[in-house]
Amino acid sequence: MNNKIIFFMGTRPEAIKMLPVAIHLRKKTKKKIIICSTGQHKELLDDVFSVFDIKPDIKFKLYNSDDTLNILLSKIYKSVSNLLNKLQPDLVLVHGDTANSMICSLAAFNKKIKIGHVEAGLRSFDNKSPWPEEVYRKLITNMSDFHFCPTKLNKKNLLKENISNKLIKITGNTVIDSIKYFLEISKKNIKFKKKYQSFIKSISFDSNEKNILVTIHRREKYGKNILLFCNQIKRVAKLNVNIFITLHHNPNIKIPLIKNLKNIKNINLIEPVKYDYFINLLNDSYLVISDSGGIQEEITILKTPLIVIRDKTERSESIRNNKSIMVGEDCKELFIQTKRLIASQAYYSKYLKIKKIYGSGNSSVKIANFLKDQKMI
Ligand code: UDP
Repeated sequence: MNNKIIFFMGTRPEAIKMLPVAIHLRKKTKKKIIICSTGQHKELLDDVFSVFDIKPDIKFKLYNSDDTLNILLSKIYKSVSNLLNKLQPDLVLVHGDTANSMICSLAAFNKKIKIGHVEAGLRSFDNKSPWPEEVYRKLITNMSDFHFCPTKLNKKNLLKENISNKLIKITGNTVIDSIKYFLEISKKNIKFKKKYQSFIKSISFDSNEKNILVTIHRREKYGKNILLFCNQIKRVAKLNVNIFITLHHNPNIKIPLIKNLKNIKNINLIEPVKYDYFINLLNDSYLVISDSGGIQEEITILKTPLIVIRDKTERSESIRNNKSIMVGEDCKELFIQTKRLIASQAYYSKYLKIKKIYGSGNSSVKIANFLKDQKMI
C-alpha cells in the first residue's frame, strides 16, 4: 500500500460531483487524497474549483482549442499514465461517463490499480444517445472494482451486467451533497446574499418575474437540432416571460445561439454562471429548460419544474416522479409544454414537489464508509 488515492476530474460536472467526496475523504483517512484536474473543459472546471475554494494538487495544462477530442484524450492518457507510474496510488476515483473518466480509468486499469466509479449504473440502453457517454460508462463499469450507484435502478442495471452485488453500493448522488452545501451557505451567509443580489441585477434577473433558465450543450444538439431549439425558444419568448440562456463554450452550440437569438426581446444570452450562483438561479426560476444530466438531479430537491430537451434519459427517476417533462431532442413539444405550464396552475403545481430520489446529501459519507469496509481508506 502506498497510502495514496487520486481523484481525476476533467469537466465541470465531474468536479461539482467529486469535490464533496474528496473533501470528506480528507477528513476521514490518513491516506493522501490527491486531486488531479485534467482539464477537458478548462475554464468551466477552474470556476468550480474556485467556488469550492480548493486548488487541485495536480493540474495538467494540455488543453489546446485546435485539438480534436481524440488528440486531447491521447494527451490526457499519456500524462495520467506517467502520473500513475510516479505515484503508484492504491485507488483512483472517477466519475460518471465523460471521455476524461473513461481514459483515466483505462490508464489505471492497464496498471492494475483499483478503480472506484462514482455515479455508476446509469443506462439509456442506446449506444447512440447520449453519444458517446452511454458506451463510456459501460466501459468504465467493466474496468472498475467498486461501483457507487445513485439509485436502486442503477444497481439493478449493474446486477444485470453480472457485476457482483458485494462491490456495489447505493449512495444517492453526490450532486445533492454539493447543492445542499451551497444552498445552506446561500441562506446563511449575508456576504454571499449581497453578492448574489448584485449578480442577478447585473443580468436583469428579477426574482418576481416569470424567469426561464436554459442550458444546452450536448452533442446531439449540434447542427439541425440547435436551430430547431432556437425556433421554439423564440416562440416561448412571446409568452410574457424572461429567458436566460447560459452559453456553453463549445462553438457548435455558442455560435448558432448567438447568431439566432442575439437581438430577441426577452432573451438574455449570458456567460456560464458560477456554481453557487447558478443553483440559486435554478431555485429562483419559474421554469428550467435543459439537456443537462446534473440539472435533472439537482432539480429534484428544488421547487422548480424542468423541461428536458432530449429523446432519452438515463435519469428516468426524475421523469417518473413528476420532477421533469421530456420534450425530445428536436424540441418539437417545447413551446406547447411551456405554454401549458404557464396557462394551467394545476399542471404547473404537479411539478413543484421536492422528491428525494437521489438521496439526502450524505452520499460522500456512504462512499467513505464503503471504502473503509473494503479497507481502501
Ligand atoms: N452549471 C453551472 N453553471 C452553468 C450551467 C450549469 O454551474 O452556467 C452546473 C449545473 O448546476 C450542473 C452542472 O453544471 O451541476 C451540469 O453541467 P453540464 O450541463 O455541463 O453537464 P452534464 O450534467 O450534462 O454532464
